[in-house]
Amino acid sequence: MKIYIVPVATALLAISQQSGAIPPPPPPTAAQLPVKDTLAFEITEGLTTEVGPRQAGTEAEQRARDWAVNKLKSLGFANVREEKFDMPTWVRGEEKAWVVSPFPTPMAITALGNSASTGDKPLEGEIVYFPTYDALVDAPAQMVAGKIVFIDHQMKAAQDGSGYGYFGRARFTGPNVAAKKGAKAIIIRSIGTDNHRNPHTGNTNFEAGVAPIPSGAISNPDADNLVRQVKRAWAIPLPGSQSELGYRPTPVIVRLLLTPNNLGQQKSGNIIAEVPGSNASLPPVVIACHLDSWDLGTGAIDDASGCGIITAAASYLKKGPPPKRTVRLLWAGAEEVGIWGGKAYGEAYKAQPHALAMESDFGADRVWRVDFKLPESAKPLEDKIAAALAPLGITRGKDPATGGADVGAIIAAQGLAIVDLQQDGTRYFDLHHTPDDTLDKVDPEQMRQNVIAWTTVLENVANYEGELALGVKP
Ligand code: ZN
Ligand code: ZN
Repeated sequence: MKIYIVPVATALLAISQQSGAIPPPPPPTAAQLPVKDTLAFEITEGLTTEVGPRQAGTEAEQRARDWAVNKLKSLGFANVREEKFDMPTWVRGEEKAWVVSPFPTPMAITALGNSASTGDKPLEGEIVYFPTYDALVDAPAQMVAGKIVFIDHQMKAAQDGSGYGYFGRARFTGPNVAAKKGAKAIIIRSIGTDNHRNPHTGNTNFEAGVAPIPSGAISNPDADNLVRQVKRAWAIPLPGSQSELGYRPTPVIVRLLLTPNNLGQQKSGNIIAEVPGSNASLPPVVIACHLDSWDLGTGAIDDASGCGIITAAASYLKKGPPPKRTVRLLWAGAEEVGIWGGKAYGEAYKAQPHALAMESDFGADRVWRVDFKLPESAKPLEDKIAAALAPLGITRGKDPATGGADVGAIIAAQGLAIVDLQQDGTRYFDLHHTPDDTLDKVDPEQMRQNVIAWTTVLENVANYEGELALGVKP
């Protein structure tokens, strides 16, 4: 595009110099260049096709790092490098589940990261039903001990994806709570908003000293069916229980086979690339995505798209005059399984001052809001960015920006400025961590809007010479 515009501008300049009447048009800004962007999609297509699923710590993630280094070098980024680190690695095995009684039926299940194995023989047990995570937290241990916990609450879709925090607790810490109360296993309704027969995986964590238990998520339709079975079972008293023992419902029996493995410490790594700034005294801007994905799909929306978006934007910035500040790309490793890459980056670079951090890790749907966390002195910069984003249908948020997982450690270490380009998450949790996270779900038009928004923000922050970082308050 530039090839054509520059001669036109030169020609117009010649005319205006002759006549003194027609001023030259301004050269295109970096943000105007990606109107026809295809690079973000090409990166997403390439990574999901040529590497596919790339779980942290596995050989597939190493192939993804090799792919990333080649891609970033071929795009002309500077200082492209791999920075390895060690992290504990858990891998999936066989996964099956059945309702045994009252009405036998198979269920679609997936193990949660860090789940224990049932062993090669299926484990069988009585379900203890909890409508919510909080109900499990409040339950006495004797209600849970020796049983299979089932947490039922269902995440609801929201544009900002905010249900993930509330409902996600069933996955993040539900297994730990159940294990501490003596449960033999736990199944949760998937943390997802779809009605497909796809369970949603994701990490769970057990406190030090708590022995992990087999932990799985069943698909929403299977959870619906299990709830119907529980209701029917409650309506059927155990024979004789109504007279002497008080009412006792017929137990719901479930059988589980989950055989994941812990591989111990394995190699993961971050990939770093830069657009060098012209003023070495100004601290860099760091922009992140994560390279690893869960193993069930090809990680197109989580988070190949994020890597495509930030890289395309940085690439457009690179086509113009050098920005004042260096823009550093971080394609983080091992985000899904404990944000190991973000922590490794924070540790490795904590002594090097940074200015501002951003992350793209919420699929490829359009940006609808921008949030800022900038010093008071940078209010004009904030206003300028908000005005530039308004024509893209992006409104200005009222809450401070918080950043993303992979830049969390460096933000915490240095108190960085943050800009969040909030994407529409309405359908994100239909796909998140399922076999359905594939390239066909990426809408190239919405992805393009992301790239324009990102390029706009980068162009402004990377050329801003005032103070940006807020610092850590003692
Ligand atoms: Zn992600
Ligand atoms: Zn994820």
